[in-house]
Amino acid sequence: MFESLSERLGGVFDRLTKAGALSEADVDTALREVRVALLEADVSLPVARDFIKAVKSKATGQAVTKSVTPGQQVVKIVHDELVRVLAGDGEPEALKIDNPPATILMVGLQGSGKTTTTAKLAKRLKEKNGKKVLLASLDTQRPAAMEQLAILGAQIGVDSLPIVKGETAVQIAKRAKTQANLGGYDVVFLDTAGRLHIDEVLMDEVQAVRDLAQPRETLLVVDGLTGQDAVNVATEFNAKVGISGVVLTRMDGDGRGGAALSMRAITGKPIRFVGLGEKMDAIDAFEPERVAGRILGMGDIVALVEKARETFEAEQAERMARRFAKGLFNMNDLKSQLEQMMKMGGMQGLMGMLPGMGKMAKAAEEAGFDDRMLRRQIALINSMTKKERANPDLLQASRKKRIAAGAGLEVAELNRLLKQHKQMADMMKKMGKGGMMKQAVKAMM
Ligand code: GDP
Repeated sequence: MFESLSERLGGVFDRLTKAGALSEADVDTALREVRVALLEADVSLPVARDFIKAVKSKATGQAVTKSVTPGQQVVKIVHDELVRVLAGDGEPEALKIDNPPATILMVGLQGSGKTTTTAKLAKRLKEKNGKKVLLASLDTQRPAAMEQLAILGAQIGVDSLPIVKGETAVQIAKRAKTQANLGGYDVVFLDTAGRLHIDEVLMDEVQAVRDLAQPRETLLVVDGLTGQDAVNVATEFNAKVGISGVVLTRMDGDGRGGAALSMRAITGKPIRFVGLGEKMDAIDAFEPERVAGRILGMGDIVALVEKARETFEAEQAERMARRFAKGLFNMNDLKSQLEQMMKMGGMQGLMGMLPGMGKMAKAAEEAGFDDRMLRRQIALINSMTKKERANPDLLQASRKKRIAAGAGLEVAELNRLLKQHKQMADMMKKMGKGGMMKQAVKAMM
């Protein structure tokens, strides 16, 4: 997520972190680059300008705190300002689905991921909130789109309104309403037709459906990779139909992410969810903190600093810092990491905050890592001898058998752990060389 912007800002703050003190000239240089980066990331000009102005007035003249380096301080100010803009007035609220049946109107251009998102949200409401959900496609122009929703519905075990040929969008919406009342549904999703571009006919149709259905939520689905266009689409839909929130899709790609920032600033509408892939579970609530951290490209170092202070013992951190900076990472290090992860909210929690580890966190999630897994892995490491922990290359078949048996687990699980350790050790080696890890660890102390 947001790689192009992150890389750029990462470079800026790299240089700043190395500089001794925070002068006005430093702030200016950094902010000039932040501005270019924002524009390159497709943040609209007025938004970038306001953003820089706000950061500048906060950064200059602020006393440099002893506990952090000047660079870290600017990072924190930029970070906090990003969060402020992304979050708007407050935390994005949950979907309004009281007073059943509640209608959720899904709008957006064709190809934005509207149908996929509709099904993802339906699945979420069904599984997380125990809601009975009905899906209805209003895309009368494209029978394939109607079928797609029905297929996705079947896949996630959510009912969809039977397709009747020849009905208008408004007629389908009416039928969905009746069906929802009769069938005791809690939530009805109306997946409206998309077009390649915004046109009057489409807007008229969506308005007519809106007037009939009286939706509790009108969610605009936009492709997060389309940058400035996404903002125009949002502005347009908001003016014509009135939206209650935005879902940004394709935030799993290496998109530019500027859309998130300008969309929030320009439409004033909250980003409610982000789409993170094609699978039905690949959707998350929008978290300004997290996204701001990613935009900064250093992982959420600010949050890491804060969290790490509470849990890390200085001694251990120091020892690790020395080792990581050298690119060293053995089983003892992995064990400390696993134990810290348990304390800091699990694997995803920690990895999502470290630079470059976002992808690994995702892979870990897909592989089914959780706290139980962490506990099993710690048990495996406990079952190794001192020598083996220091040098996992020693682990041949007979040793593996002994270790697995000692932990009451299968050798296959030990092999997975070893593979994971190898990946992390390789990464540490790379980061150690680049000096990146040194900084991240320094930030923790
Ligand atoms: P619609 O025309 O707006 O209804 O778009 P679809 O829901 O049919 O989605 C178009 C394509 O985008 C499909 O291949 C989806 O699987 C894919 N897609 C949707 N959301 C995401 C997302 O968040 N990430 C990725 N990588 N692909 C997505």
